[in-house]
Amino acid sequence: MDLLLRVYERLRHALGGENWWQAESPWEVMVGAILAQQTTWQSVDRALRSLKAEGLLPPDALAHASLEHIETCVRPTGFYRSKARRLRLMAARVFEEAGTLETFLARPPGTLRRSLLAIEGVGEETADAILLYAAGYPAPVVDAYTRRILQRLGHPLPRGYEKAARQLREQLPDHVSDHRRFHAVMVILGKEFCRPTPRCAPCPLLDLCLHGQAVVADLPQTGL
Ligand code: SF4
Repeated sequence: MDLLLRVYERLRHALGGENWWQAESPWEVMVGAILAQQTTWQSVDRALRSLKAEGLLPPDALAHASLEHIETCVRPTGFYRSKARRLRLMAARVFEEAGTLETFLARPPGTLRRSLLAIEGVGEETADAILLYAAGYPAPVVDAYTRRILQRLGHPLPRGYEKAARQLREQLPDHVSDHRRFHAVMVILGKEFCRPTPRCAPCPLLDLCLHGQAVVADLPQTGL
């Protein structure tokens, strides 16, 4: 079996990962994807709770709110000025382009992706996270956790987002649930075990990972 599939199977059983992205609606996923840039999920939760408490979470409310009001709510996530502006731009784009969120998300994946990428601050990783978790398209998400883990496993992803995403698409089952679950277990493993300084001894991938075995044996590593 291909290494990527073995890793995925192993981590599904060891770490779970189903329903990892807890959101009450596709729009909450989209807002969370913007807020999650360069911060922790705890901060994102605080900001989402604050937006809800202020009545600003629905897209029409966000599109018409003052930037100062949004900034106050999203301050816990850092970069709050740019994130507030991006949230309002995203909400406005939904209505300008499609009239409703449902219509916006129901467009073909290529159209939706281009539209998301045209929003300031939405890069390929964020756009694909929205395609996968909010719109329900089988879009692999290439993030720093996945790159680091696969590099250490001796199965590096190619440089460049598109090439890396294509490799994941070719090697994983092409289902929304599998891409969601694979992304989830990569994030969990990257946070709990495969950190910049990894915790290899308890890692569920240790027997598949020469880098980890070298770490545990206290041998020289490749510097990853
Ligand atoms: S064994 Fe160590 S280096 Fe390998 S995947 Fe696990 S945590 Fe990362």
